[in-house]
Amino acid sequence: MKKFFGGMMLIIGLAPVVALAQENPNIFTYKVGAFEICLLSEGQSAGKPGIFIGATPEMIRKCIPDGTFPTSCNAFLVRMPGKTILVDTGYGRNLFDNLKSLGVTPEQVDIILLTHMHGDHIGGMLKDGQAAFPNAEVYLAKPEHDYWMSDDAKNPNARKVIEVYRSKLHLFQPVEIDAKPNTLFAGIQAVASYGHTPGHTSFMVESGKDKLLIWGDLTHAMAIQMTYPQVAMTYDVNPDVAIASRKKTLEYVAQKKIPIAGMHIAFPGMGKIAKAPADGYSYSPFTK
Ligand SMILES: [Zn+2]
Repeated sequence: MKKFFGGMMLIIGLAPVVALAQENPNIFTYKVGAFEICLLSEGQSAGKPGIFIGATPEMIRKCIPDGTFPTSCNAFLVRMPGKTILVDTGYGRNLFDNLKSLGVTPEQVDIILLTHMHGDHIGGMLKDGQAAFPNAEVYLAKPEHDYWMSDDAKNPNARKVIEVYRSKLHLFQPVEIDAKPNTLFAGIQAVASYGHTPGHTSFMVESGKDKLLIWGDLTHAMAIQMTYPQVAMTYDVNPDVAIASRKKTLEYVAQKKIPIAGMHIAFPGMGKIAKAPADGYSYSPFTK
């Protein structure tokens, strides 16, 4: 079946998965069974090793020889029959233009899944203090909600987002990636990937035989954390827990050959993970 979409003709229904070209350079589209997953880039940048915890000079020399590594900030749009879903909202910079170029208005977003509540993930949630997505039901892990409502977290923006969307908030309990899945609704499972924040969650998208794990901030520096998953970040709330989540998830997706997508993986933000012959894992980004 063919249909016109965003000014380009796309072939719908090809199995198993097909990467599709886009005109907007901030968008990359990938198919998971009957679903379409669009990376919505908020911008690319160069990260610096100063944010690493536990990286030796040798590791940095080997993985980041020129002193910077590519990073980005991404949100994702998941289109499934009858549902338009946003996974995080980035800074809210390019987000609304990106959605527009896909023919999606804020009112058409039915569901928002939040991986966690840092500013670069909830930045698009509010507009002039009101819900930027007035019809969206919001899914948030209960431990994440409880953390941001506690005195430990000092971020009034997160509380404000919770307050504004309170009547549409669905709190859920993520489960370990190898446990019996917690299906939020058909096609979406909530996976615990705690550590970066106390309730940090990955979302497994599943349609037919195909899967994609949108893993949020499980990594911030693919350049070093694939080879050395034990390298953490200064802004991990609990670095040891974040490292354990990263190691467990990498092993699982490598073994099961499940493609992944991440909020700080440079464009196109999605690809495949394999076990590396020497240390750690390797990442192969999808190509247009
Ligand atoms: Zn982030």
